[in-house]
Amino acid sequence: MQQIRSCFLLILFALFTAQAQQPKKLNSSEIYEAIQKLNVLGSVLYVAAHPDDENTRLISYMANEKKARTAYLSLTRGDGGQNLIGPEIRELLGIIRTQELLAARRIDGGEQRFTRANDFGYSKHPDETLEIWNKDKVLADVVWAIRTFKPDVIINRFDHRTSGRTHGHHTSSAMLSMEAFELANDASKYNEQLNYTSTWQPKRLFFNTSWWFYGSQENFEKADKSNMINFDVGVYYPMKGLSNNEVASLASSQHLCQGFGRLSQRGSQDEYVEFLKGDPLDGNNDIFAGIDTSWNRVEGGKAISDILLPIEQNFDFKDPSSHLPQLLRAYKMLQNIKNEHWKTIKSQEIKDIIQACAGLYLEASANSSSATPGSEIDLRLEVLNRSSATILLDAYTLTGLNNPVSKNISLESNTRFNFEEALTIPEDTEYTSPYWLKEKGTLGTYKVPDQELIGLPETPRALFAEFNLTINNIPIAFKKPIVYRYSEPDKGELYRPFEIVPPVTSSIKDKVFIFENDQQKDIEVTVRAGKDNVDGYVQMAYPDNWSVYPKQQKVSIANKGDIQTLVFTVIPPKNQSEGYISPMVVLDDGIYTDELIEIDYNHIPFQTVLLPSESKVVRLNISKRGNNIGYIEGAGDVVPESLRQIGYNVTMLQPEQITPENLKQFDAIVTGIRAYNVVDELKFKQKYLLGFVEQGGNLIVQYNTSRGLVTDDYAPYTLKLSRDRVTDETAEITILEPEHPLLNFPNTITQSDFKGWVQERGLYFPDEWSEEYTPLLSSNDKGESSKKGSLVVAKYGKGNYIYTGLSFFREFPAGVSGAYRLFTNLLSAGKENINTDQKITD
Ligand SMILES: [Zn+2]
Repeated sequence: MQQIRSCFLLILFALFTAQAQQPKKLNSSEIYEAIQKLNVLGSVLYVAAHPDDENTRLISYMANEKKARTAYLSLTRGDGGQNLIGPEIRELLGIIRTQELLAARRIDGGEQRFTRANDFGYSKHPDETLEIWNKDKVLADVVWAIRTFKPDVIINRFDHRTSGRTHGHHTSSAMLSMEAFELANDASKYNEQLNYTSTWQPKRLFFNTSWWFYGSQENFEKADKSNMINFDVGVYYPMKGLSNNEVASLASSQHLCQGFGRLSQRGSQDEYVEFLKGDPLDGNNDIFAGIDTSWNRVEGGKAISDILLPIEQNFDFKDPSSHLPQLLRAYKMLQNIKNEHWKTIKSQEIKDIIQACAGLYLEASANSSSATPGSEIDLRLEVLNRSSATILLDAYTLTGLNNPVSKNISLESNTRFNFEEALTIPEDTEYTSPYWLKEKGTLGTYKVPDQELIGLPETPRALFAEFNLTINNIPIAFKKPIVYRYSEPDKGELYRPFEIVPPVTSSIKDKVFIFENDQQKDIEVTVRAGKDNVDGYVQMAYPDNWSVYPKQQKVSIANKGDIQTLVFTVIPPKNQSEGYISPMVVLDDGIYTDELIEIDYNHIPFQTVLLPSESKVVRLNISKRGNNIGYIEGAGDVVPESLRQIGYNVTMLQPEQITPENLKQFDAIVTGIRAYNVVDELKFKQKYLLGFVEQGGNLIVQYNTSRGLVTDDYAPYTLKLSRDRVTDETAEITILEPEHPLLNFPNTITQSDFKGWVQERGLYFPDEWSEEYTPLLSSNDKGESSKKGSLVVAKYGKGNYIYTGLSFFREFPAGVSGAYRLFTNLLSAGKENINTDQKITD
C-alpha cells in the first residue's frame, strides 16, 4: 500500500504542474501520441547536477521518438546561480529554477526529480562537493530516485572520470550515479527506503558524451568510438509540426533566469552515448537493445496490449471517443495486474486518455486564490461529457468532507452540470510552501523528514475534488486539485494554484540594515491578512543590547488580502554588533512569524513561499573619508545601495557621463561587477578614468572575467586576470602587508573582518602583475597554492588604482561587517589629509 501511495504522489505531480496555469486539453494528435506512449513500458533516467545542465535534445528524443518514460534527475535546484530576470537569489531562485525545469518538461515530455542536495555555489573538486553535500545523504537520494522511478537505462550528462577538471557538482552527479547503479538493487543498503518502494536494477548506464568533452570537433572525430552508439536526434514529428531539436530548444529556453532564451534549431544532428556498464550492447545501436519495453514485460500485459495496439493502429482522429469501450476494457484489466509500479503509471495514463477521448471537463474552482485552515470557501464544480458515451456521475468527494456527495446523474452529451459547495478547509491542512524549505537545512542539504517527499519537484497539493463516474458500466474516478480560475479584462482566462495561507503574515522590505553610527532608524513592518477581521498586535524580537520601540502596536485589518504598515524605531548599541530583528504578530489563536513571498513570472506558475520574517541588523564600527562616489554599473549588483546604507552619496554614472569634467566631483569611482565585460564604451572611457586617478582620485575595479574583456587596457600597468578563485568562504586569509595604509586607514583591518563571509572569498583574481602593484592579501582553497591577487593596489599619479576580486557584491547584501570596513578603506585611500574627520564611532 505504501508503495502505491508513493507512486501516486509522483504521478500527481505530473498532473498538477500541467494544471497550474491551465489544465491541458488534448487534441486528437496529442491523444494519439499518448496512446503510442501508453504502449511503451521502457524508461530512461537522465542525471546531472543543476537546472539547465540537461540535454533537452536527448530527453525530448527519448520521450517523443522512443516514447519512453523519461525523467531528468537534477541533484540540485540551482540556488547558487544568478538571476537575470528578477531580485530572487538563493532558495527563492531555487524555486524559480525548479519551476523552469517543470516548464521545460511540459514541453519536452519528460518528468522531473531532485535530491536534497543544495547548490551551494561553485566547487572545484568532487571531494569538496561530496563533503559539503554529505555524500551518504545524496547517494541515498539517487538510490531512492532509481528505486522509485525504476529506469531501464540511466544516462549521465557528465563524465565521472574528470575530478578536478570541471565543476565539482557535475563530476559528483556522474560519480553518484555510477555508485547508485548497483546499490539500488542491494536490499541491505538504505533499507529504510524499502518500507516505501522496492529494489531495482537498471540494465545499462551511459555517459552522454560529445565533442565538447574532447576539447574540439577534431579530437572527437579521432576518438575511439567502439564503446559509443549514436543516433540522429534531429527527427521531424509531423504530429507536432516540429522537429525534435526544435522541441528541445523550446524546452531549454524556459531557463530564462539563466539567460537561456535562444533560437530554435532544425535538421539532422548526431547524439553520442558512451556505454559505461550493465548488459553489453553486442553491436546493437539501441540503448534499449534486449530490453522488453512492451506490455509483455508485465504479467497479464499481453491481453491488455491485444486491446491497446489495435487502437494505435486504427486510431480514429475524427472521433477518438469511438475507442472508449476498448480503452475502458483495458483500464479494467489493468486494475487486476500484480505489478503495482506499472499499474499506477499506466492507470493514470489511460485515465487521462479516456478523459480526453470523452471530452470530459472536470473542474473544481474556488472563489478565491487562497484560504486559511478552518475557513470556509465557496467551490464551483463543473462536469461535462462531450461524447456520445453513456456516462454517469455517481458522486463527488471533496477533501475534508467525510462522505461523498451522491448525485446519480446521467451526463447527457454536451449538457453542462454545475454544482456549488461550501467547503470548510480542515484545521490540520498544512500551509502551501515548498516542502524542502520548511525546516532549516545545512549548507549542503535540505532537511526533509518525510521520505516520500524526497525528490518530488513540488509539495503535493492539499485539496482535491474526486469525481466518481461510471463509463460503460465501469466505475472510474478522476481526482483533480482545487484551482482558482478567474479572468482579467486585459489577459483573458487565468488559472492559479489554490493555496493555504496563515491568517496573518508580516514582512520587512529590506533584509539588511546597516547602522554606520548610533543613530536610530525607522523601519516599516507590513502586516498582511490571510483572512477577514484580523485583530491583534505586533511586537518585535531583537538582539540583546539593541532596542526597539514601541514595544507593541495594535493591528486591525478588516479584509483578507489587505495590508497595514507599522513603523518601529530601532536603536543600535554603541559598539559593533549584529543580529536579527523579526516581527511577531500575536492573534487570539497564536503567534505568527512568517513572511509570505510571492513569485510571479509569465513562464512559470504563480508561487507562494513562507519563510521566517526577519532582517539582519548590523552596527558597524566604521570610519570613512570622502563622500561622493561615482558608480559604473556592470552586470548588476547591489553595491551602490549598500554604500548608501553606510552614508555615502552614490551617483550612478552612464558611460556618456564619464567625462574629465564630470569625474572631478567624485572622491572615488567604483566599477560594478564585470563592467569591463559588458560595458562596451569603457574601451573609450578608460583614459578619462585613469586621468581621474592621476589627479588624485581612487578607482576601484571589482571582478571581471578573464575572457571577453572589452579592452585590454583596464589597468594603468600590466595586470593579467586569471581564473584563480577561492570558493571556500571560510578559507584563511593571510595579511601580506599589515602596515599598508589600505589595511589601516581609517579602519584597522584584522582577521575578525574576514569572519562570517558568505558563498566564496572571491573570483577571477589577477595572477600576474608588474612591480607597481602591491598585493595585500593571500588565500587559497584546500590543497591549492596560495593566491595573492584578491586585492592589489598601485599608485598612479596622485591617486590609487585598486583591483579586487573579493566578492564584496555577495558580502554586502549579507550584511558582513568586515567587508564594509575593508571597502570603506579602499574608498578612503590617500585621503588622510582630509580635515573633516568623519569618524563617527565612539
Ligand atoms: Zn551545471
